[in-house]
Amino acid sequence: ALALTGAVRRYGPRTVLDEVDLEIERGDRQVVLGPTGSGKSTLLRVLAGLEPLDGGTLHRPGDPVTATVFQEPLLLPWLTVRENVRLGGRYRANRSRFDDAHADALLDRFGMAGHAEARPAALSGGQAQRVAIARGMAVRPDVLLLDEPFGALDPATRAELQTWLRGFAQEEGLTLVLVTHDVDEALYLGTQVTALDGDGGIGGRWTPAASETPGGHPLRDEVLAGYR
Ligand code: ATP
Ligand code: MG
Repeated sequence: ALALTGAVRRYGPRTVLDEVDLEIERGDRQVVLGPTGSGKSTLLRVLAGLEPLDGGTLHRPGDPVTATVFQEPLLLPWLTVRENVRLGGRYRANRSRFDDAHADALLDRFGMAGHAEARPAALSGGQAQRVAIARGMAVRPDVLLLDEPFGALDPATRAELQTWLRGFAQEEGLTLVLVTHDVDEALYLGTQVTALDGDGGIGGRWTPAASETPGGHPLRDEVLAGYR
């Protein structure tokens, strides 16, 4: 659905992405790990087409639509939860009809129907992030991009959303690229894990077998060594 070959991105003298190859096929859950400043968010912006490359190529076979979810939910505070999610359906280009029914079904599916008329300020952090993901899904993206989506949540809520997102992604066969610096999260959620080495390159790639719960994955130490 998306691929980078030899991707180079520079900011001034700094080469943030140095000949990075990455392939995302339909149904992949590609998790990108890396230390702070290693270029994870840059990589997502490149995949979203929001940022140009200074070298290499972004391949977009079939012209895939992407939607991005950030660490902060970024809900519009003056709109209700329902209106926020419906916005996603209205955002997608080339759609002649608004798809409010789909947005409402997502709210239901995400356990947020009871909060549909609430304002974002009335939600907990975990609820707000569910709504943000629902809004992203309302776009009907071919690839959902998530930039540290659980990074601002407390550990219990984080674990709850990790479990929930993996279940939902598996059921729907979602294609996603998720950025994190949590190794346990990467090994739990990812079908593919790619580590950026902090120097613009790739520190390692793994194809983890699914674990039942976050934490204690057999690849943990190896992955940690690959990206520190
Ligand atoms: P974090 O884990 O802190 O979110 P990251 O891996 O997402 O980090 P990026 O945000 O992609 O890292 O940034 C990579 C490097 O590029 C950093 O050194 C950052 O300061 C720099 N950078 C990012 N965006 C820009 C920009 N628009 N202009 C100049 N430098 C930038
Ligand atoms: Mg970042």
